Amino acid sequence: MSSSSDKIIQARRLCHQLCFSSCVEDKRQGRHVELLRLRPHWSVLKKEEQFCRIDQGENVPFDISLPLPARDEREGSDTGVRLFWERFSCQHCGRCCYTPGAGLYLEKEDFERIAKHVGKKKLKALCRRDKVLKAWILKQPCPFYDRDKGCSIYDIRPLTCTKYPLHPPLPEMPYHLAVDAFCPEARDLAKDTLGWWIICENNWMKLLGKMQEHQANALD
Ligand code: SF4
Ligand code: SF4
Repeated sequence: MSSSSDKIIQARRLCHQLCFSSCVEDKRQGRHVELLRLRPHWSVLKKEEQFCRIDQGENVPFDISLPLPARDEREGSDTGVRLFWERFSCQHCGRCCYTPGAGLYLEKEDFERIAKHVGKKKLKALCRRDKVLKAWILKQPCPFYDRDKGCSIYDIRPLTCTKYPLHPPLPEMPYHLAVDAFCPEARDLAKDTLGWWIICENNWMKLLGKMQEHQANALD
């Protein structure tokens, strides 16, 4: 890894730790628009390329990093998540529910809550038991999805469903929210917020500048 990419990684980490999601309000207010007017940025120059890549999510499974800080253990660090949900508006296409897949992990509380509603025996029949995870996995396509009415257990749906399309951050972008590119609304949001990266990058550059200044002073 080159030293410049090491520095960028360091700046991202510092940004997450020191700026404490202060960029979120700038993004909410659309301050990237003025910045993009002032200087060229890849999010504008490579927009078409990025859009094509994002659109591949319809057929190829992958996650997209969003220019929003991921929540961490600090109180109040959920501002990025909150802005995500403010902007996310489910299209109710049902793709996340009716698509075949490996199954939907049920937390113990999910299993108990849904079992109370549909009956334990019936729920077990709709699941498979994962011996390694020691958990019940709801079969997919989801048996609770109805093409006309949508989710038949919406108010008590599993935790995973309430968080979808948010996924854990990507290893290469650990401080940013990640979404499943399979979801059409997540793809639209990723396109709409591409310009927000200029706010993140401005902050990283400022921190890199300060780090360099600090190193130069230490050498004097
Ligand atoms: S795939 Fe996305 S837009 Fe479609 S129902 Fe699921 S969350 Fe909503
Ligand atoms: S429980 Fe409801 S929201 Fe979750 S996958 Fe099934 S139908 Fe969709």
